[in-house]
Amino acid sequence: MARTLTTCIYCGCGCGLYLESDGSRIISTVPSRNHPVSRGSLCVKGWNSFEFINSRERLTEPLIRRNGKLVSATWEQAVGLIAEKFLSYKNRYGSDSLAFLTSAKATNEENYLMMKLARAVFGTNNIDHCARLCHASTVAGLAATMGSGAMTNSVDDFDKADCFLVTGSDTTGQHPLIGSRIIKSVLDRKAKLLLFDPRKIRLSKYAHLHAQIRGGTDAAWINGLMHVIIRDGLAADKYISERTEGYEDLAKVVKRYPPEYVEEVTGVPESILVEAAHIYAETEKAMIVFAMGITQHTTGVNNVKSLANLAMLTAHAGFPAAGVNPLRGQNNVQGACDVGGLPSVYSGYQKAGDPAVRSKFKKAWGVDFLPDKTGLTVTEIFAHACMGNIKGIYIVGENPALSDPDLNHLKKCLKNTDFLVVQDLFLTETAQYADVVLPASSFAEKDGTFTSTERRVQRIRKAMEPAASSVPDWKIVCSIAKAAGYNGMEYNDPSEIMDEIASVTPIYGGITYSRLDPFGLQWPCPDKEHPGTPYLHKGKFTRGKGLFLPVEYIPSVEQPDDDYPFLMTTGRTYWHFHTGTMTRRTSVLDREIPENFVELNPEDAKTLDVKTGSMVCVTSRRGSIEVKAKVTDRVSAGSVFIPFHFKESAANLLTIREVDPEAKIPEFKVCAVKIEKV
Ligand code: SF4
Repeated sequence: MARTLTTCIYCGCGCGLYLESDGSRIISTVPSRNHPVSRGSLCVKGWNSFEFINSRERLTEPLIRRNGKLVSATWEQAVGLIAEKFLSYKNRYGSDSLAFLTSAKATNEENYLMMKLARAVFGTNNIDHCARLCHASTVAGLAATMGSGAMTNSVDDFDKADCFLVTGSDTTGQHPLIGSRIIKSVLDRKAKLLLFDPRKIRLSKYAHLHAQIRGGTDAAWINGLMHVIIRDGLAADKYISERTEGYEDLAKVVKRYPPEYVEEVTGVPESILVEAAHIYAETEKAMIVFAMGITQHTTGVNNVKSLANLAMLTAHAGFPAAGVNPLRGQNNVQGACDVGGLPSVYSGYQKAGDPAVRSKFKKAWGVDFLPDKTGLTVTEIFAHACMGNIKGIYIVGENPALSDPDLNHLKKCLKNTDFLVVQDLFLTETAQYADVVLPASSFAEKDGTFTSTERRVQRIRKAMEPAASSVPDWKIVCSIAKAAGYNGMEYNDPSEIMDEIASVTPIYGGITYSRLDPFGLQWPCPDKEHPGTPYLHKGKFTRGKGLFLPVEYIPSVEQPDDDYPFLMTTGRTYWHFHTGTMTRRTSVLDREIPENFVELNPEDAKTLDVKTGSMVCVTSRRGSIEVKAKVTDRVSAGSVFIPFHFKESAANLLTIREVDPEAKIPEFKVCAVKIEKV
């Protein structure tokens, strides 16, 4: 069998694996023993990351909607229709009547081309992707405080840190290889794990302390930690005066968060808060680790700023094994942001509003015009489609009809879009609304790069020919650009696209395919001799001085009340990924969790007279689903948890579309529901 070294398609850990092929199909995976992150291991998703590639449900040809039905078409017909329609909307309604959703599952090269298509060919900054729904708050919050919106440390640092403050991250479930490093450090080196999470998770059993916080109260308990640190003389005065600014403002705000008040708001006992503050502040190598439990709130940016404040207050940033570490969810959500799949920045976070940046890209791309107005975010794009302002949307490798909040409203927006193009492996819930569907090739059928959560840019390599008449996303995007009359997107190979990215993107400046063999480089990597950067902010912050940005606790938008008495939170399970497009087509994974469930505390289950396996109806102000109850003390009384993978009982029919005012990320983690026994 032929073996091809590549990178896992699922989470942001970026594990290295070999795909084994019998010449026509991928038939197994083997972990890479030498890979710096996975080191010979994979989680169950990585081991099973090939079955969906061979699925009989793969799209085999382009489809065009005629008389209400999707029917077969040739590539020429489909691409020609897209170019014609998009150009006609541009001419009639202006460039901003178009919008582009790029993909955290696609390669860096493909994401870069999507932003080039949106900006250079169609003249709009309306380009965004699902980072808006997971870590947009991280990018905004860390960029404002430290100057860079990425994970400060490396995965290897998890073997060196002596304290982990983990919050809003079910690490063993969502980033299993990082979760296992935390457990190993706790067991082997007696590192202390401080867990702040509303649910009991697998890490709880290894935690020195677990504060089971009330959902949506993060700014309050983080301010409480800082209150204790300052009160008890644990702040890093020298570091604060030499490397930061704005400390006085922070000190004033956190003074208002004494432990007794924090206990009232968050449910964290005073003694636990004080103990956690002392352990975190007094341990030299302490890492903050967080994920979407922190970011997916209407206060997501504030929560992230608050964690950055905490790290800077205690000199826990700018060193090995000490920093602020957002764990990025999808395999290439970091890269999709890095290469400009965002409405306000070009690749390398260069501001779209800066004339010097636009001038550089105009020259590189050979165009006279690039838009200066910040584009619309994912959530705004659909709202504008509903209002009739957006006429054409091109979606690559995303499934908003299951992943976005308030699905009944989202579906109305999709129906209201004049011309919807969806490019994917399968006829997803979103593709079913499309006017044109394009069959894309999987990660095993193309070359490219992904950037993992630790900023590691690494290769994926073609292990088989594209299935049926599917085509790699980068080639499809180039053909649409050409059909629209633009000749600046002709490449023989994705390595040429990476060379172009490096030429216009300072943080990727030293990256070439030959340098990425075998296991990649961590950005910033500004020139061809640079070895890559294992940790950020060494000596000084990317923005110069770290900026304390104090935040106040603001309650979540929708609180439980008499009509909707439960606080519902959503998330993922260990066995499935995102909207289940790939994992639900993988027998081992689907066998473990074939259907949806709602986690319900035993006390609530007793009141409702339900047992594990009973069907219940969960209703919010926006919709209703029926799911099986799973009675467990993983959730506290009054709270419920529902995974969002399942189309049959989509949790996002219940969630609200209120967003963080700055990052525009929706409030997936808190909404009010009622539960009735069916
Ligand atoms: Fe893939 Fe993440 Fe599992 Fe590694 S930990 S094998 S990257 S899903």
